[in-house]
Amino acid sequence: MSMTKEELLKARNHIIEVSRELHDLGLLVRTWGNISSRVDDKSFLITPSGIRYEDLTPEMIVQVNIDDLSYEGDYKPSSESKVHAACYKVRKDCGFIVHTHQVYASCAGTLGLKKISTYIDDTDIIVPVAPYALPGTDKLAQNVANRLKKYSDSNSLIMANHGTVCLGADSAEAIYEAKVLETACNNFLMDICKTDMPHGVEAGFNSFIEDGKIVYEHADTPERVKFVHEHIYAKRPDIKYIVHNKSEAVMTVSRRANNMRPLLDDFAQLIGTGLKIPANQDDVVHNIRKNANVVFVPGDGAYCLGPNEDDAMAVAMVLDKGCIAYTAVLRHGEGHYLSAYDCFKMNRHYRKSYSKLADINK
Ligand SMILES: [Zn+2]
Repeated sequence: MSMTKEELLKARNHIIEVSRELHDLGLLVRTWGNISSRVDDKSFLITPSGIRYEDLTPEMIVQVNIDDLSYEGDYKPSSESKVHAACYKVRKDCGFIVHTHQVYASCAGTLGLKKISTYIDDTDIIVPVAPYALPGTDKLAQNVANRLKKYSDSNSLIMANHGTVCLGADSAEAIYEAKVLETACNNFLMDICKTDMPHGVEAGFNSFIEDGKIVYEHADTPERVKFVHEHIYAKRPDIKYIVHNKSEAVMTVSRRANNMRPLLDDFAQLIGTGLKIPANQDDVVHNIRKNANVVFVPGDGAYCLGPNEDDAMAVAMVLDKGCIAYTAVLRHGEGHYLSAYDCFKMNRHYRKSYSKLADINK
């Protein structure tokens, strides 16, 4: 049985409400992640590609065919529609799906494990992990479908190095799954890391460009810090805002001179295909590169770069999540890093589509 026009509009509005709720819970950020609800056996409604949750209107929610992924209208469905379609096919009782890049579940999905055995309160929980495949590919949808078939009792799943899929008969069930999953994965990481790894941005010395001049947010910004900011703006004319992130996870990683390889898709897309953490302060300015939006400072966190404050903050948040994953992998003793080739592909694709989006918004 199909929905009437009024029912469809109601379902579209409900997706928007849920996206705002998940956004407020911190489970969805920017344009990452997506939400869908089943219409009938043949189609589902899903959030569009590349539009922020705060900007969504009902006509932007796209109706997609489960079998061939065809759709109507001007808005492109989320690039992960294949994963949603695969879930609706495997789980006939599933009415609502939430895909998030939530922090602790995503980080737990970088350890190279096939499943996460954890707990919440006194209840044991097993979360299946679908093997890695590039976002938007048939392979990823297939990996998710296979995992859901194997773990038929499980209503949430981690996509390795990417994020989660949480299923429910309705939105309340799917949201509940996402929340439980996050707590359970935080418990799991606490056991591995032997410490709580809070997620966030701890601002140090930020700066921005105004009327062609560098403005420092703190009057007491030291000269050695100004030196790095000046070099970043000189080498990267596209950058107008720098967030100095001194969060616990970023500080921890900045104390280890190393090459940091991406463990998460959004890191590879937004930050770059790899970062160097120099051993000496003198080497910091040599690590300012065209295709890396983070510059590490030994023992003092990292500078997160953006064309505006919003984008620089997004880089800072994604870096923090990446540093939690990196620390978890180091303490776990193993992990699954993304291949250099996949990182390169994703980074190039993201920069291309992002500049296209920026053009539309101009
Ligand atoms: Zn995603």
